[in-house]
Amino acid sequence: MPKNFTKSHKKSSVKPKKKYGQNFLKDEGIISEIVDIAGVTSDDNVLEIGPGLGDMTRFLCDRAHHVTAVEIDESLIEPLSMRLAARDNLTIIYGDIMKQDLDELFAKAAGGAGDAGDAGKVKVVANLPYYITTPIVTMLLENDLPITSITVMVQKEVAQRMVAPAGSKDVGALSYMVQYHSEASIELEVPPEAFYPAPKVTSAVVHMDMYDVPPVNAKDEALMFRLIRASFNQRRKTLANGIEHGAGLNITKDEIRGILTDMGLSETIRGEKLSLAQFAELSDRILG
Ligand code: SAM
Repeated sequence: MPKNFTKSHKKSSVKPKKKYGQNFLKDEGIISEIVDIAGVTSDDNVLEIGPGLGDMTRFLCDRAHHVTAVEIDESLIEPLSMRLAARDNLTIIYGDIMKQDLDELFAKAAGGAGDAGDAGKVKVVANLPYYITTPIVTMLLENDLPITSITVMVQKEVAQRMVAPAGSKDVGALSYMVQYHSEASIELEVPPEAFYPAPKVTSAVVHMDMYDVPPVNAKDEALMFRLIRASFNQRRKTLANGIEHGAGLNITKDEIRGILTDMGLSETIRGEKLSLAQFAELSDRILG
């Protein structure tokens, strides 16, 4: 075992739980790189989702002003509190991240230390459980939360989807969501051997720098994302077909085709060919 591999997971009596996506990072070099990518400094308040056995939490506590960690698995209370007992800049909340009162959680995390911190904002850092990656990322992006940046380990294929440009084979609804809210980049590829137990897939770290103002201006953001989702729900259909059947709008295929023609686009274009700016324009035109 290389010397920078943490042995704590081996010493622990905890049996990793598949149902919670528990693949613990055992390579301390990679943990340190993730914290570097997140750009965590002593001014930052951090929210970690899924601290697991606390190996990354330890690094975060060493560098951040304050860390709030949310962990679903209550059987980790004992190992986590034993390992991290000495940290006075850590708050652990046991619960499901999807069931938290987000305003309350982020207010606590941002004010976690009461004084310093980046103007009431939080850096989110996580080695995400893969069974629930998209719902967690969507929740973080959609709720207008006080977040400076999100740095997450995800499955490599999901990372590629998050940063995929319009027109590319990987683009999907998640790409538009991520790129509307942030400047996103893949910063690191991580092989299965860096985890215990090793997952079947390669992983990657995505860093999202949140925009203060989105790069495109849609009059009705919710409508724009309804259109985006509808066009990707029906991936093999044309955009006009997808929207007519999937967006829950009272609009016919011919009306959508008319708008596409007015925009200088083909009537039979597929959703993945539209840029974010074109989805914004389409939604503004549908709004009338
Ligand atoms: N951060 C640790 C590491 O890097 O070794 C553990 C990462 S492991 C991939 C994912 C962690 O998220 C596990 O500790 C798991 O119990 C936790 N988890 C899974 N679902 C969760 C949920 N809905 N809310 C909060 N934590 C969750």
